Amino acid sequence: MSGPEDPLLTSLQFVTGVGPKRAELLAKLELRTVQDLLWYLPRDYLDLTDVRGIKELEKDRVQSVVGRVVDQDYRQLTKGRVMVGVLLECDGGYLRGVWFNQPWMLKKFRPSEQVVFSGKPKWSQGRWEISNPDVQWIGDDEDSSAALSVLPRYGLTEGLRMTEMRRISQQVVEQFADLIPDPIPPELQAEWQLAPIRDALRRIHFPKSLLDAEEARRSLVFHDLLDFQLALALRRRYWRQRSPAPSLPATPKIDARIRRLFPFTLTAGQDHAIRDIAADMASGQAMQRLLQADVGAGKTAIAIYGMLVAVAAGYQACLMAPTELLTMQHWQTVERLLGHSRVQRLLLTGNLTAKQRQLALEQINTGTAQLVVGTQSLIQKDVSFSKLGLVVVDEQHRFGVMQRAHFSSGTENVHMLVMTATPIPRSICMTQFGDLDLTINADLPPGRQKVVTSRISTDGNRSKAWNFIRQKLESGRQVYVVCPRVEEGEMKGDTADMMSAETAYRELQNTELQGFRVGMVHGQMDRDVKAQQMADFRSGQIQALVSTTVIEVGVDVPNANLMVIFQAERFGLSQLHQLRGRIGRGEFQGYCFLFTETDKSEALQRLMALETSTNGFEIAEADFRLRGPGDILGTRQHGNLPLRVADLLRDQTILEEARAAAFQLVNSGRLDQPELAMLKIRVLDRFETPMELVRSG
Ligand code: ADP
Ligand code: MG
Repeated sequence: MSGPEDPLLTSLQFVTGVGPKRAELLAKLELRTVQDLLWYLPRDYLDLTDVRGIKELEKDRVQSVVGRVVDQDYRQLTKGRVMVGVLLECDGGYLRGVWFNQPWMLKKFRPSEQVVFSGKPKWSQGRWEISNPDVQWIGDDEDSSAALSVLPRYGLTEGLRMTEMRRISQQVVEQFADLIPDPIPPELQAEWQLAPIRDALRRIHFPKSLLDAEEARRSLVFHDLLDFQLALALRRRYWRQRSPAPSLPATPKIDARIRRLFPFTLTAGQDHAIRDIAADMASGQAMQRLLQADVGAGKTAIAIYGMLVAVAAGYQACLMAPTELLTMQHWQTVERLLGHSRVQRLLLTGNLTAKQRQLALEQINTGTAQLVVGTQSLIQKDVSFSKLGLVVVDEQHRFGVMQRAHFSSGTENVHMLVMTATPIPRSICMTQFGDLDLTINADLPPGRQKVVTSRISTDGNRSKAWNFIRQKLESGRQVYVVCPRVEEGEMKGDTADMMSAETAYRELQNTELQGFRVGMVHGQMDRDVKAQQMADFRSGQIQALVSTTVIEVGVDVPNANLMVIFQAERFGLSQLHQLRGRIGRGEFQGYCFLFTETDKSEALQRLMALETSTNGFEIAEADFRLRGPGDILGTRQHGNLPLRVADLLRDQTILEEARAAAFQLVNSGRLDQPELAMLKIRVLDRFETPMELVRSG
């Protein structure tokens, strides 16, 4: 929108009172144009609204006093420390400000000049004193009441003073804020309780009170998130409209036939997910759904249900898993359930010989294979389905391009279900995955007990834990022992002392697990060996399985109810939750021991969240709060979300509101009306959504 003559793009050096020198300083803060400065919001505020006379002061709360400088002193204390004192007189009473080790403060005051001190006063040696007060100088030409408000504090750079910055900001806001277009019509502003941007900007820079600033901020955050959600809603609509897909209905007869296969009754959460999925698959539009369900909630059954619906309608379906281990396990589940059915099943891994692969590809290509289970090898170029109806992507919690992976199936679109057991904090979900439909299943199958989790940090407790584990192994249970690394290597520094699976495997057999049958799996093992070890663990041949995080997702061995995690502090919270999800799946109480080798309080605090909660959604939120959005998905990309004001951690409520508003505008078609043309343009401008996404149909 902003053309070359747009006054908001005026270079700051041409703004009254800035000039080339200050413009250079501002450029260090990435502030070049008027617009940059308008959106350079205060870091926080100096609240000078509670102004008191000396007699009205109370101790220990922030108040301000206006007075004149009547005395200054400078004292050398012991050990080279210095103290500066400045005495204010105010209506015959006195207040002293003191600074330690800031000798330069002395030079900042001139006798009888008028200033404001703010801070928490205390009564000391017969008068009020504030240490380290915030100071506001009131020029003689200035109206003192103007200074007695809430003052913005900006991030600065060397050579630029706060008072200058305030003056420049005020100048720019007064001169330019009114020029900011506001594309939201008044009735929507009223409905959403929004201030127009120009007012909100004025108030966030120079508020009347802290509450005023907070309200202004809400408006700006809402505008910010609204744009973003509109872009997502437009994209989602585009996909929907451009993605007719075969209608694959789950008739009551099909539904009943599939349900009979399962040896259990589906939970309410599974039922709910299945309803969502069946509705999508019958809709004639391609499903794009993200299913989030906690570890052990029973996603496999949901996936199989969907695939069988596709098969029943005469289409092929495939289930794709991230690891070989998990693929094999799914394959076994499928074989258990469908062993006697007529459904033609096929396993496709990277493991096949060239000839086997050739044969498999043929069956996929001719449609002989109806239900395919495989690793990522399913999306290689040479795999071409004859009539693919549904793709289920399991455990895609390290989201990549996979969600929108391309599956070739002639010209028809394919229904797509992405499943994850890593609950994603809601606000990330609504931004990163905001254009997918979402089903959340928080139910666990009946009879699951909470895994008892303890942090173990001393040798004494470690040997107690091993005692306990040996007892359980003797009574027939099994244990996972998880290590952060595969083998000792030449790695330096931080990773050098990480416990490796190879070492633990060797050592445990001669120490804590002497006399027990110990096995090992890790990613660098030969896949046949790996599969054999897994099979032996499943059958109980192996009692203790030493592993790396390859067992993190999906692995399901109900008899294993014990887990030791070495150096637990090295793992992310959600990852630990995943790992822990391997146990407590059967009838036996689960026990998870987090061995730690750190005394960093941040790490221990994170682990505490795991002791106190077994709910993956809660843990994800805790992880999010402790680590911020940066690390959650193992990517930095959402750190780059083009948001100006909003903070996903802090503004979750506003995000929900903005999302609801945005999707309503798009789905009702109102965004396509002329009254909102400006808004649509703003969204496109900011998010570079291809123009084609915006056409309504
Ligand atoms: P997820 O993939 O969601 O972590 P799984 O699909 O591996 O969970 O299921 C975990 C375990 O729960 C499996 O042993 C499965 O057979 C069992 N299960 C699934 N659904 C139910 C149910 N409705 N009732 C009882 N057990 C169930
Ligand atoms: Mg699973």
